[in-house]
Amino acid sequence: MSVKTVTFSGSHPLPAIGQGTWYMGEKAGQRQIEAAALRAGIDLGLTLIDTAEMYAEGGAEEVVGEAIKGQRDKVFLVSKVYPWNADVKKGQAACEASLRRLGTDRIDLYLLHWRGNVSFGETVELMASLQQQGKIGRWGVSNLDYDDMQALWREEGGSACATNQVLYHLASRGIEYDLLPWCQQQAMPVMAYCPLAQAGRLRTGLMNHPVVNEIAHHHNATAAQILLAWVISHQGVIAIPKAATIEHVKANARAVDIALTVEELGILDNAFPAPTAKTPLDVV
Ligand code: NDP
Repeated sequence: MSVKTVTFSGSHPLPAIGQGTWYMGEKAGQRQIEAAALRAGIDLGLTLIDTAEMYAEGGAEEVVGEAIKGQRDKVFLVSKVYPWNADVKKGQAACEASLRRLGTDRIDLYLLHWRGNVSFGETVELMASLQQQGKIGRWGVSNLDYDDMQALWREEGGSACATNQVLYHLASRGIEYDLLPWCQQQAMPVMAYCPLAQAGRLRTGLMNHPVVNEIAHHHNATAAQILLAWVISHQGVIAIPKAATIEHVKANARAVDIALTVEELGILDNAFPAPTAKTPLDVV
């Protein structure tokens, strides 16, 4: 079976499921366990790791640094800069601090975490400069809705953006109205965060929804695996579930191979309809 992949402007093809790290690095006693979970994921092919200077105020980047020690080249590293650090001066220092915590000399994909008061023009300048120095491979954005993306595209150099990372799961499909089709037209991958709706915490009942569980039963899979398979059934979408337990990591890695049938996708559409009008971008 061919594994679904995505490609970020010039990268090699990456499996359409990666690993998130929000809430990692918060507790000293958990760090070894979290790093071990990430390493297990890398071994199973979940080679994209998503982190941010925000997560545990750098603690998550340190956990990632621990996990990738001795195997940096196997991994596609994504990190994010706070919006208030996203100008040329502060961004340079923020990126260098992230690199130190990650224990590497380059980030493969560096994202503006959300839109703040720094202009897109200044952020594009920062990103281009970091790219020229070889500190980042490519750059992208996060939490930008359709209109923000159009504004970014109007900036000189703005269309070099390699991804938009946004909230996307079966019970939050707003991006399908305009943002996702537009990104697909640009051949720009979308990174789906909270693909499991935070294990259902964002949508009570999602993990034990009867329709999801019936499809899961047919595939000898779990509801979580079906949620991931559904996210990556969309062209150019990569899911980045966070899992701090090896059992969850293994389950997530297996979800790359689950192909939902047209009939199953239709059943899920009936239970969780696609949007028929614009809704503001969902965020956490
Ligand atoms: P997720 O939807 O990935 O849910 C994470 C939760 O699901 C954890 O409690 C985890 O448990 C559980 N889980 C993982 N795998 C399974 C499984 N197979 N079966 C059952 N439960 C499972 O939420 P996140 O908020 O973590 O989003 C994913 C990632 O996206 C983040 O970690 C972060 O990297 C990124 N993100 C980006 C944002 C942005 O603004 N750009 C905002 C939010 C997230 P356990 O840990 O115990 O294994």
